[in-house]
Amino acid sequence: MATVGSDIQIALIQGDGIGVDVSDAARALLDAALQKTGQAPASYREIAAGAGYFRETGRDIEPGGEQAAGKADAIFLGAIGLPSIRHADGTEISPHLRLRDIYQLYAGVRPVRAYPNAPQPLADPRAADIDLVILRESTEGLFYSAAVHGRSEVIDNREVRDVLRITRATTEKLHRFGFELARKRKQRGSPGKLTCVDKANVFTSMAFFRQIYDEIAPAYDDIATDYNYVDAQALDLIRRPWEFDVLVTENMFGDILSDLAGGLVGGMGMAACAEIGDETGLFQPAHGSAPDIMGEDKANPLAAILSGALMLEYLAQKTDCPALLDAAELIDGAVYRGFEQKRIRPIEFGGDMGTVAVTRELLSLL
Ligand code: ATP
Repeated sequence: MATVGSDIQIALIQGDGIGVDVSDAARALLDAALQKTGQAPASYREIAAGAGYFRETGRDIEPGGEQAAGKADAIFLGAIGLPSIRHADGTEISPHLRLRDIYQLYAGVRPVRAYPNAPQPLADPRAADIDLVILRESTEGLFYSAAVHGRSEVIDNREVRDVLRITRATTEKLHRFGFELARKRKQRGSPGKLTCVDKANVFTSMAFFRQIYDEIAPAYDDIATDYNYVDAQALDLIRRPWEFDVLVTENMFGDILSDLAGGLVGGMGMAACAEIGDETGLFQPAHGSAPDIMGEDKANPLAAILSGALMLEYLAQKTDCPALLDAAELIDGAVYRGFEQKRIRPIEFGGDMGTVAVTRELLSLL
């Protein structure tokens, strides 16, 4: 078959621990899916970064690494950080948080989907229908002054203040992104609902977040609106998660809720993540470098592989190349069928397949 499509360029940061194994797996699936759909192979620009690199060089990313990452069509990241290697103030090595900041990757997309034969901690049979997305704002909120940005106010070793920042500019973009996402999902059969998750009854910043949601909503009258306070949302993710479609929320709330939601469908090894800004996007599994299992071929590569599919979906739109969407759907479909036919049995779920075996099986499912 002749190859078509734009020659996509991906900045690849494998990082630390299992980040290396799972990004190898994702790359194998990406390459195979592009080939299968008759498209030109992607080119990769590898960028050295992470805790291991910091230990060797005293830098957390190679010189010019941030700029090189921004020049690519998209950035793919394995995992960064090792608890044993830290800055003098005790914080971990996190150049990826800086990338989020530099490229204003405000839209953190975290799909949460139940797969057949994957762990289902909720006893209610409707848990098999869980299919939602947490849209976590990723550049401001309470992370605005997170340690990596050095914006916390430390007062004489007596008091520390972190700021929760909500800006109109970012929040407008975020809610628009949420409504567009709900619309895209509706075209594929989802209910078409965007739930605003906040704490508007207590914080002025959160009332502002909701006010902007209400301003944007009328432009999307095909999408149902809905509100939930974050504490009630935590309860509802356990009580009735199958009733939600897209949840849009502040950075810290999204951080916590997405781990909780990940636990409903199997665990961190399933938690894919996209962080999208106006110019570029960074795609990575939501889990960390998992030093407890690194080098043992035990990591579940599915979060990374599904993040790769999210990247193809993003690139299809960015480069105006719908064929890339076919490649993304091929990967998603292979994962779904793999579980359905019990051909994927990750060690993380008590199965017998390590990183390499899961990857190999998925390649054959493609
Ligand atoms: P970070 O703060 O960087 O997100 P973390 O401290 O939350 O990292 P993780 O590295 O995500 O920790 O690991 C948390 C737990 O989940 C560990 O016990 C780890 O073994 C397990 N885990 C994480 N990712 C995977 C995976 N892909 N496959 C199997 N187990 C995983």
